[in-house]
Order: sequence, then structure tokens, then C-alpha cells
Amino acid sequence: MSESIELTSGSKIQFLPGVGPAKAERLGKLGVRTLQDLLFLFPRDYEHPAAEVAIDDLKDGVPASVSGIITDAELSARTPGKSIFGAVLTNPSGAVRMVFFNQPFRAESITFDRRVMITGSPTQKGLRMEFVHPKVTFLRADEDTGAGEILPVYPLTEGFKQADLRRWTRDVVDRMADQVVEVLPESLRVEMARRVREAASRAKTLDVGAVPPEGPLPRIDDALRQIHFPGDDRSLAAARTRFVFQELLVMQLALAMRRRSLTTELNAPAMELEPIGHARLIDRFGFALTGDQRSVIEEIRRDMARQFPMNRMLQGDVGSGKTVVAMYAMMLAAANGYQAVMMAPTEVLARQHHSTLTKVTRDSGLRIGLLCGSVGAAERRETLRAVAAGEIDLLVGTQALLYGMEFRALGLCVIDEQHKFGVRQRTILRGGEVDPHYLVMSATPIPRSVAMTLFGDVELSTLREKPPGRQEVHTYLAQDVWKPRWWQFLKARLDEGRQAYIVAPRVSPSADNRYTSEPGIDEEEDLSLEEIIEDVSSVETVLADLRDDVLKGYEVGLLHGRMSNDQKQAVMKAFAEGDIQVLVSTTVIEVGIDVPNATVMTILGANRFGLAQLHQLRGRISRGVHPGHVAVFTDGDLPPQENERLKVLESTSDGFELAEADFRLRGPGDVLGNRQSGLPPLRIADLGRDVELLVLARRLAQDLVDEDPNLEAEELRGLRDQVLRRYGNRLEIGDVA
Ligand code: ADP
Ligand code: MG
Repeated sequence: MSESIELTSGSKIQFLPGVGPAKAERLGKLGVRTLQDLLFLFPRDYEHPAAEVAIDDLKDGVPASVSGIITDAELSARTPGKSIFGAVLTNPSGAVRMVFFNQPFRAESITFDRRVMITGSPTQKGLRMEFVHPKVTFLRADEDTGAGEILPVYPLTEGFKQADLRRWTRDVVDRMADQVVEVLPESLRVEMARRVREAASRAKTLDVGAVPPEGPLPRIDDALRQIHFPGDDRSLAAARTRFVFQELLVMQLALAMRRRSLTTELNAPAMELEPIGHARLIDRFGFALTGDQRSVIEEIRRDMARQFPMNRMLQGDVGSGKTVVAMYAMMLAAANGYQAVMMAPTEVLARQHHSTLTKVTRDSGLRIGLLCGSVGAAERRETLRAVAAGEIDLLVGTQALLYGMEFRALGLCVIDEQHKFGVRQRTILRGGEVDPHYLVMSATPIPRSVAMTLFGDVELSTLREKPPGRQEVHTYLAQDVWKPRWWQFLKARLDEGRQAYIVAPRVSPSADNRYTSEPGIDEEEDLSLEEIIEDVSSVETVLADLRDDVLKGYEVGLLHGRMSNDQKQAVMKAFAEGDIQVLVSTTVIEVGIDVPNATVMTILGANRFGLAQLHQLRGRISRGVHPGHVAVFTDGDLPPQENERLKVLESTSDGFELAEADFRLRGPGDVLGNRQSGLPPLRIADLGRDVELLVLARRLAQDLVDEDPNLEAEELRGLRDQVLRRYGNRLEIGDVA
């Protein structure tokens, strides 16, 4: 191939001068195959080398850069393995000394007459300033020092240095930045900047420096130059805002287009209820609904009155009264002549819902069915037949049993306690001519930014307000030395007539039969055998330790996922009826259990649980009129006070605050794992940091799609192509041919 090959943005990276096939292969590991890829390999950080200072202006302890010529260099070995290398750097403003301990190799590069720049914090040594272990940059005779410039820091792989990448990106930026097609028309960049400024002045949450004080967000060529080689912090911030906003806008456009296509392509039964009927339904609950419950019910009524499927997620802390809302929606469907189904994650919960629903609909003539593992084969067959024949109006069941069922006229599908629900994992139940409405409920509040991405094609309702009369739960981060006092406290509550949970992470202490597949248990990390035997609290050991000691004379029950359904059922019943006073359990109790008289909880090995899970557990004892008390103990050497997650648990009882804190602690990667979200990873936006921009991008996307559903305007072509390229297939939007 000739030297003068014409490079374009699509050219292979190996043809960039200085790269070649071997380095090109390594760049491939960073996803860089073409010049264009390198142009969009954004720095992961920046260095701000200290500005250059005249030697007589150096101050003790103040970081600075100095450049000059090496005028003296000497390596002295003291004892074997110990050395001191000292050199003197001279320029017209004076001379400084630099020192390196035990780095004899320095003598090979820092040599007489060489031009270097050193950066560090000098100390006064006698009359001279001295730099110990400064950062050294070697300069050609005529080269600019770069001091005071902002330098990009790229992700690296083995085989090249930052200096290589900086040289190559500089080259590509110089060659190509002008040729990149701008997909954001000027009018849109003006609008984006305007909205950022407005949000910043309103909420004071955004750094106004992130956008130019007036005018549009930077154009693509300018933004590319500034993101790689920023002139100053302001220009860098503006460039970053442009790319982050663009990335989030592209994602939100895809989600908005998907929301829209779900509404135009599917048909659902439009359901109405006149005010009298509505009031009668509400009356059935026997208590006044909270304000939040009423407004969510209004949202649902509006959704279900339309001819396309509701696609709504209802989130609210444990005990916030989600079930009530769901049951209203089910009765609304029945009142319109449609069937409704409610899926629960466990049998215990399915039975509980079934009995509540039976009570609520008493004397209404509605027929209620139940399908779960312990229902006998004959009864099950009969239920399936009755559902298909339309003889059952409302069906409750565990999820697995409901897949592929046949309904006569299914109008609503409720999914309870859905913790892990990605954009792409919709449960599809159909029956009759139309698509059912969907209501998904979750007691795991999700951070705002996750809601807008992972659940971006779903409408979100939230119950924040607790039903009246709820007592607070007091959370104690406990130390092992407190145990005797805590057990005394627990017994005092039992003697007052209350009940208690004791929760441990494992069923049994030994490794071979540990149980890991209970609902809600996060994947467990691999533990060594010793650790398991010594350090992990288990239901069996707790029971053995306490039954004949602290809890002697009290009725103690055992509940875990390895018991049969019948056994579990019997224990739960006994606990609900007060025959069992203390329930020793794994997190199997996490989901949905409602025993208002249980007010004391002991969590052992709390360091093994996720924050959301601990909060769920705590919710079990906030159901009644008595205040709840939970003591949190940890396994191992670290007391709960040293555990960031547990500190958050103690500091707030608001599930949403907790979710945001968890998100900050764990980082978006964990919560929004690519696998889980089904969405391509973000390259520059950071969902922890860029929530405000995400909100703006979502609104702007909705506005654009409302105006021009398929982004057909000429000036939006480029943007539309980008949306389809990145999200078309995954979200099944557009005519992705
Ligand atoms: P969630 O499913 O959100 O955890 P539930 O719907 O199971 O909560 O409600 C928890 C308890 O609170 C139930 O016993 C329910 O009957 C009761 N409850 C719900 N809403 C109200 C209300 N507005 N007033 C009084 N009690 C309520
Ligand atoms: Mg519930």
C-alpha cells in the first residue's frame, strides 16, 4: 500500500501513522478499529499538570512544574539495594535539585544536557528547592512543555502508553474532526442548551459552567476537539455536556418511540366505570385510601379507559398499600366483563392475596380462582377449564403456573413483587381478542435514573405515603457484646404478647447443603469452606443455640426454602395465628408476609444481605399498631457501624432515599448491569452523576416524538439513524430492515 493512502474516518486504525498492525490489534481491545472509533474513544479522566513557575517563585509545598536542562546528575549507592539518585535542573531563573531513592534506573534517562520538565511539590532544602520523586516529562529541544494544559487520560491496554494515545488522538482529531457529520441540528443544540440553563437556574443542582452562558451546545467538531484536548475547564464541561446529552437523548428517543409503538400497535379493552360504581368498589376496602393510593387509582383508571394496553409499574415500600390498588384494578376489569389475573412470586403470597381478594369481593358475585403448587391436580384441571370457559373472573396464582394459560377474555394482568424486570422481559399472557393491560408492582424502589432507563418504556407510579397508624421501625446497628441485652429486650416484647423474627443468611452452616435459590437471595459470593463453617450465621445453628437457652419456654418455629410447601404453609399459618412466637427464618419471609403483631426482628449476618433486601426484611415489622425494633448483627470481624450499607439502613427508613444511596454506593454498573437491562452500555454518560441531564433528555425526547413520531424531519435524519443503529434491534422500534 502506498504512503499517501487517503485516510477517511472509516479507515482501519492500523493505517494511522505510527500505529501499524500489532498496535492496531491491541487498540481493538478498546473497541477501536477505525479512525472514527478513536475519535470517539473518550478520555476517562484528565490530568491538570501544574503550571510552570520560575524557579525563584517556587514555594515550599506548592505543586508546580519547572522545565530546563539537566546540568548535574549523580547516582550513589549506599548499601546494596539502597541508592540515591540526585540531579540538578537549570534554567534562566535558577536551579533546582531532584532526588530519587532506590530508583537507580533514573540515572539512565535523566542524563547531562537533557531537556526535561518536572512536576511535584518542592521543599526548601537550605538555599535550594528540592523535588523528591517528581513526575518527569522528557522534552525535545524545541518542544512545548504542555505545562498548564489539560491532558486527556485514556483507557489503556498493555503495549502502549498515554503518550502514544495522546499522539494518535491528536492526529485523528486534527485530520477528522471537521468531517464528522453533525446529527444535532443547530436549532436542537440551542434548545438543549436553553433547557440545561433553565434547569440549572431553577434547581441550582447543575453546574451552570457545564453549558456556555448563551448560545447552543458546541458543534460536533468543536466538541470533539475540546473533549480530547480541552482549552480550559469550561470548554471541557460544555463538550462533555453535549456528548452526555446526546447519548442520553438517543437512548430516550428510542424508549419514547417504543412507548409510542406499544400504544399504536396493540389493542386493549377500554374500561370505564361511572362514579357510583367507583365509590362502591372503594367502599369494599373498609378504610379510607391514602392520597397516593387515590391518585394512583386515578392514573390507572385513565390508563385502562384507553384502547391500548396500560403498561404501568407501581412502586412503593413494603406496606404502602400496593395490593389495594391492584385489587381495585382487578375489580374494575371484572366490572367491565373482563377477567383479571394476579401473579405472585411465592405460594405463601398467592394464598394471602387470594384470601384478601375473597374477603374484599364478598357478596359481589365475582368468582375467584387460585392456582399454586399445592393445589391438587384435579382441582387444578377444573380451574384451568373454568378460566378458559370464563367461569372464573379473578385468578390468583404463582407465576410459573400461569404461563401459557388460556383465558376467555383476559383484560388485566397484575404482577406482584417483581424485583427484576428488564425492558425485554415482559410476561406475555394473552386471552381473547385483545391484549391485556399490565400492572407491575415492586417493593424495591429504584433510583430515578434507573427507572428512566431500565424501565424507560413503562409508566411509573409511586406510593410514598404510608397508610395511617403505621408505627416507626427503630433500627439498631448492634455489636456482638449487646446480644444478651438484646435477647432480654426481645423476651420482654414477647412477654407483652408481640411476636418476633430472627433472620439468618443460610439454612445450615455446612457448605455442601447450603441453599441458594430462595427468592430474593442475591447471588452469593464464593466462600471458602472454613468461612462457611465458622462465620456464617445459619437458621439451624441459631435454632440450636437459642431454643434451649434464651428462647426456652417460647414457641419457636422454623421457615426456609428447603421445606416443602405444606410445611411452609403450616408454619406461616401458625405464626399468623400466634401459635408460634418466634420465627427463625431465611429471607423466605422477605416477600409480602403480613403479620401485624410481629414487631421485633433480629437480623444475623446482615453483611451478607443487600440493602434493598434488608429494607424489605425490615418492612415485615412495620405493619401494625406497635412500633417495630430491628437489631442488625454482622458475621465476621467488622461491626455493623463499619459497614456503609448498614449505616445507610440505619439512617433512613425511606425506601427511595435508600435506593438512591445504594445506587451511589454500588455504582450504576451494578444496578444497571448490561445483562439485566438489555440496553447497550453508555459510553460517556454516568447515571449516578448525570441524572439531571437524563431528566432533560427524557423530556426533550418525548417532545420530539410527540411532534414527529418517526423523526422524519429532514434535519433529524442523522439523529434518527443513530437511534435506530444503536437501539433499533433491541427495542424493536422503527422499520429496522
Ligand atoms: P404492600 O403490598 O404495598 O406491601 P399491602 O397492600 O399489602 O401493602 O398493604 C399492607 C397492609 O396495609 C394491608 O394489611 C392493607 O390492608 C393495609 N392497608 C392498605 N392501605 C390502607 C389504608 N389506606 N388504610 C389502612 N390500611 C391500609
Ligand atoms: Mg404486597
